[in-house]
Amino acid sequence: MAHIVAEPCVACKFTDCVAVCPVDCFHEGINFLVIDPVECIDCTQCVPECPTEAIFAQDDLPDKWSEYVEINAKLTPDWPVIDAQKDPLPEAEDLKDYEGKREFLDPGAWQE
Ligand code: SF4
Ligand code: SF4
Repeated sequence: MAHIVAEPCVACKFTDCVAVCPVDCFHEGINFLVIDPVECIDCTQCVPECPTEAIFAQDDLPDKWSEYVEINAKLTPDWPVIDAQKDPLPEAEDLKDYEGKREFLDPGAWQE
């Protein structure tokens, strides 16, 4: 099992999660983060840190976001590791509670 980043993270990047992960298993896309399901040790430390409540143990993932198990696994190899907190995206606060952000998820990898 692993922890999963789900839809509420789209367009946010508050990255409080990254600051507490002991094994650096977050990977960064253009407007979303994923968790490497192989590296995650299920320590749960990131869950309470996420201001959008986007992170779930796989067994607790709401059914409406079940596709995010595959999304995290599929995008992890293509996206770079993020191991330090950064500023959120400009639209993060406005879209924090917006339902239906799936269509905004950009599959592209973050590039410095
Ligand atoms: S803290 Fe939550 S919303 Fe922010 S980057 Fe991490 S998972 Fe995404
Ligand atoms: S559960 Fe622990 S190991 Fe897994 S992503 Fe969160 S902080 Fe990292």
